Amino acid sequence: MAAEAVNPFDTAREQIDIVADLLGLDGGVREVLRHPKRELTVSFPVRMDGGDLEVFTGFRVEYNMARGPCKGGIRFHPGVTLDEVRALAAWMTWKCAVVNIPYGGAKGGVVVDPARLSRGELERLTRRYATEISPIIGPEMDIPAPDVNTDSQTMAWIIDTYSMQKGFAVPGVVTGKPVSLGGSEGRGDATGRGVACVIREGARDAGVRVRDASVAIQGFGNVGGATARILHDEQHARIVAISDVRGGIYRREGLDPHAVEAHRNATGSVVGFPGTTPVSNDALLELAVDILVPAALENQITARNADRIQAKIIGEGANGPTLPAADQILFEKKVVVLPDVLANAGGVTVSYFEWAQNIEGYYWSLETVNERLNEVMVRSYSAIRDLGRERQVHLRTAAYILAFDRVVEAMRARGTYP
Ligand code: GLU
Repeated sequence: MAAEAVNPFDTAREQIDIVADLLGLDGGVREVLRHPKRELTVSFPVRMDGGDLEVFTGFRVEYNMARGPCKGGIRFHPGVTLDEVRALAAWMTWKCAVVNIPYGGAKGGVVVDPARLSRGELERLTRRYATEISPIIGPEMDIPAPDVNTDSQTMAWIIDTYSMQKGFAVPGVVTGKPVSLGGSEGRGDATGRGVACVIREGARDAGVRVRDASVAIQGFGNVGGATARILHDEQHARIVAISDVRGGIYRREGLDPHAVEAHRNATGSVVGFPGTTPVSNDALLELAVDILVPAALENQITARNADRIQAKIIGEGANGPTLPAADQILFEKKVVVLPDVLANAGGVTVSYFEWAQNIEGYYWSLETVNERLNEVMVRSYSAIRDLGRERQVHLRTAAYILAFDRVVEAMRARGTYP
């Protein structure tokens, strides 16, 4: 994907400054919000299948824990940098505050292209990275979860590694684990379900009918895939374009996301799905559609292409897909941007449900999980919409105002140690 070479932590800080100015936050508090609390960089060897050792670098950043233990995923990607992980950890802090779950924010990442590794290599890399960050993770300290190129199997390896070191089972050290290890029903689809839910609410307010609305989805991983299925199956939207790292496909009459998924599983990509025309990841963003879902990586919608976006609604499945300058352009064009910290918060919300079920030792049905997720998403969306209208700001700024109020209130209540 031809992402613009923007440092995501610069973006995160620009967003913080915009809202700190609006709220008139004093210098000290603003500086706390601009800085990660704790960061760990690790380099570690992994025995490759051929017998050689290869050294990998990973990070875990705990951004702010005023409101509770830190929470956030781990990504495996060749483009991971410390500044990217810092930005993602900051966004997790605001996200948890937006949906009002009792967590701070964190993020982890390993610089690796997992597609290049065998399953055994990936398992050894995961276990060694988990060991390296184990001094700072734990159910009461910092709780990882899946993110780009990691899944419930990755989480299972982390549980086993951490538990072997402790000498007893610690399933609560991560969320997004398999149901057989204490995972929650509905966690797999939760991020996509949350995106679809917020799109439904945002579309209603914008006077856009989701039934038969055309939708383009950039990225077909956990988030893009579930969003496509749920919008198609439950809201009867017309998914006209889908892409992955290798490129995209377009069909005006609509695609069956289940069939596209089967094709991707068989061939490794959505590209070449019968009856479609190819579309690049960049061009997909500019298609004449009603709803656009960036569900891949950061820095996709920029000052360069924002003016050419034709969608009426953007539901950010990815973290950080839109740059601040683009936010302003889209706001002036009256495009409704449902910001990442709200739109993709369904994943961490069900992570919280999972963590609560682990503590409670009592497990909820899929219906209960989905109902409570829907409640959280609708409530959070409505609060942000109302705040946006009241203050005449776009929804990202409204979401940040809500989040900063909650984080700063917690910081002030705790006071400054010592
Ligand atoms: N990686 C997901 C996110 O960016 C989920 C994090 C979590 O569940 O802790 O929100």
